Order: sequence, then structure tokens, then C-alpha cells
Amino acid sequence: MAEIFIKRYNEKNRNYLQQFTSYMEQYSGVKFHYIQKSPQVPESKALANLNHWAWLFAEFGLAPLHRQGAYGNFSCRKNDNTFFISSSGMVPEQKFSAEKYCLIRYCDKDQLTIEYHGKSPPSSETLMHYLIYQRRPDINVILHGHNTLLLENRKQLNLQQTSIYHSYGTKELATAASCLAEKENFFIIKNHGFVALGKEINATGQHTLDMLKRLIQLCQDRSA
Ligand SMILES: [Zn+2]
Repeated sequence: MAEIFIKRYNEKNRNYLQQFTSYMEQYSGVKFHYIQKSPQVPESKALANLNHWAWLFAEFGLAPLHRQGAYGNFSCRKNDNTFFISSSGMVPEQKFSAEKYCLIRYCDKDQLTIEYHGKSPPSSETLMHYLIYQRRPDINVILHGHNTLLLENRKQLNLQQTSIYHSYGTKELATAASCLAEKENFFIIKNHGFVALGKEINATGQHTLDMLKRLIQLCQDRSA
């Protein structure tokens, strides 16, 4: 059912879903020291659901692909002190594989060190997720994607953004995003991408799609 919807949706709105990569910094790998504590990621139903939304984001052009993966990362809290996050360079696929995710217990933002459980290292934006979960104990889900049209139309959509541009995967970007996350559940990282926060995975994903619908409507109204 979802596939038919996506196909129709994409066909109808193809013109508006074109990706303009001018804003996007060339991806050149992770910028932290990653310490693998174990290769195992615990079983979780929530993780399969998170994967579903990662795949939907890719299909909708909210996490466009690049040579080494997708411009986007997705996480959900496991408990107070740990969270699951997509691995670095993950290409979202409809079929769920726990190997594409990591469990994070500890990050050291001064030593730029991240400890993880999983087969391959976590997303380059793991520190941002970590700091947001620390500052927002009320939220359990973070979906981070990239869509240039959304960035270009942020004012019309009434979206706040971080004040200064920071390079991806840096402590500065993570800190700026986590500060804004204290008061916003959907916001823009300047010249980079968007972040959606929520208590529950499906509601957070749906909120993002609602934002995309508003964006499409805006573009359609403009061309009418
Ligand atoms: Zn990003």
C-alpha cells in the first residue's frame, strides 16, 4: 500500500522533489574516533520501524543518496541512556537489517570519541543525536534529512534555523543543533538539512511528511 502511495506521490510531485545539491557539502567520511565495544546490536521492534521511515525518507527525496550512502541519519531511544542510530553511510532499504544500525551508550564531545555496539561505525552526526537526547529527555526519536527546497522555503514554512553554518559531523554543528532542539521539534540546520524530533517514531515521520506536503503545496501555489 505504502509503495503505491509513494509511486503516485512521486509521479505527481516529481518536479518539486528534484534535489539541488548546491548546498550540500561533499561527504568525506566520519570526523570522530569510534570505538567498537561489540559487533552486536540488540533485537528491537522499534528499530525495524525506524528503518521503515529511513526507507520512506529516501524514497521521498528527504535523504538523497550519495556515493557512500544517504544524506540522512535516524535514531530512536532505547532507554534513558542509550539509543539506536543508523550506521555511517547507510543506504536505506525497505528490508530491515539490524546490521545497518548501532547502539550508542557513550560519547565524549571533548575527546571526540564515540563508543558503539554494531558491525560498522555509527553516523557522522551521532554526537548531534546524543546531545539532543541529553537536552530533551521528553523525546525518543530524531530523524535528520536533507532537502534543498525545504531549506529554501523555511521562512514561508515558519521554520527556525541554526544561526551559523558549521561543517557536517562537527562538535559545533552538534552543539548548535542541540541548542535549537531545546525549543523546536522541527528545525533547519543552516545550509545543511532538517531535524525532526518526537516522542514516537510514526508520529515523527508523519510530521515530516506533513511538512513535505506543505512544501509541495507552497510550490504548487507559486506556479499556479
Ligand atoms: Zn546531515
